[in-house]
Amino acid sequence: MDGFGFRLSPSSAINLDTVDRKLFDELCRIEPDALRCMACGSCSATCTASSLSGMSVRKVILNLQRGKIEQSVEMISGCMLCGKCTMVCPRGINTRRVILTICRLYKKEEGKK
Ligand code: SF4
Ligand code: SF4
Repeated sequence: MDGFGFRLSPSSAINLDTVDRKLFDELCRIEPDALRCMACGSCSATCTASSLSGMSVRKVILNLQRGKIEQSVEMISGCMLCGKCTMVCPRGINTRRVILTICRLYKKEEGKK
């Protein structure tokens, strides 16, 4: 809608049609739970590393879906694998296992560059 006064700034616009979802689809094939996240934020609220490193399972999953791989890999490096997020997830997602799978898939991919 032209002239209405609202538009996305280019820096925050994400064209999902052009995002390469190959790795995210592979993650969901191995860990279908990744698709069950409803972004409630309970994991981030209880995360041991959140205040220290900004780690957030919710943001990691959303960023991977949006093709922001570097940010996710950097964020996940702050995870201490304590498992608190797994205990509070209302969707019963084994977030710790999802994190480990993300590390395995995406860090391997980063290493190829
Ligand atoms: S607690 Fe579970 S459902 Fe909520 S944002 Fe975290 S992973 Fe997603
Ligand atoms: S396992 Fe990682 S993401 Fe989950 S609460 Fe612990 S430090 Fe945070």
